[in-house]
Amino acid sequence: MEVIVGRYAGFCGGVKQAVEKTEKSTYNYKDIYCLGEVVHNKQVIENLEKNGLKIVNSIDEIPSGSKMIIRAHGEREETYLIALERKIEIIDTTCIFVETIHKKVKKAREDSFIIIIGERKHPEIIGTSGFAGENYYIIEEENDILQAYLEYEKTNLDKVYVCSQTTYNSQKFDYFIQKIKEKFLNTELTIDKTICNSTELRQKECEELLNKVDAMIIIGGKNSSNTKKLVEITKKGLEKVFWIQTVEDLRKISLNEINKIGILAGASTPDYIIEEVRLYIEKNNI
Ligand code: SF4
Repeated sequence: MEVIVGRYAGFCGGVKQAVEKTEKSTYNYKDIYCLGEVVHNKQVIENLEKNGLKIVNSIDEIPSGSKMIIRAHGEREETYLIALERKIEIIDTTCIFVETIHKKVKKAREDSFIIIIGERKHPEIIGTSGFAGENYYIIEEENDILQAYLEYEKTNLDKVYVCSQTTYNSQKFDYFIQKIKEKFLNTELTIDKTICNSTELRQKECEELLNKVDAMIIIGGKNSSNTKKLVEITKKGLEKVFWIQTVEDLRKISLNEINKIGILAGASTPDYIIEEVRLYIEKNNI
């Protein structure tokens, strides 16, 4: 069987720097906490926990005077203020792309209604909306556009700034923008497609690769948003799509009658897991 591994499979720059900084911090400090998982990857998290990292869900669980990692997804503005008040030292690994969105949203809130296209419950969106002030709406589904418009109408603003989750599906974003333009007809719209380069490249590669293979293996955590997007894209063109987290999951899957298989991975999948999967297929001469 021929195996093609995606060029952009695995850790993106933002996740890589977050994991490296966190790893380094666990060597240097004892009382170190992280708000949520640094990356959506079980194996990486287990290793960091072995080194002493404590993962918590709220800043309330972090004792004053400790160190706190802010992960690549970023945090709400108020988290920084609480940390300052409680003398919690921040080790900030917010990805540069996310940080830029926070700055733009903070600026836009001065005179615009803000629309964020993304998943309401995703930590990045929770963080970004925490910089948007009072006048914002998150669009997750097409019918949210009407609600966003009704919320906008309640304000006395005449400008709208639109941005998105960095890992959002590019085509879906374009489609929503077209619908937003139709709804917000006489409004000054600033459209900012804040999908990060790494996500765009990964999704584009996915679209190209699915036409060259009979099946696709996608490696990534079940709660990883960008991995989920890869699965969605691949399923549009291929029947055989296997979403796995480690090589162990592969052992339960039959790959018979496949001549060419692609391997892609989400931004939180370390290279060694991709390599294990590739070697497993090769060694077993599937
Ligand atoms: S997917 Fe993009 S925005 Fe998110 S951490 Fe990676 S580089 Fe940063």
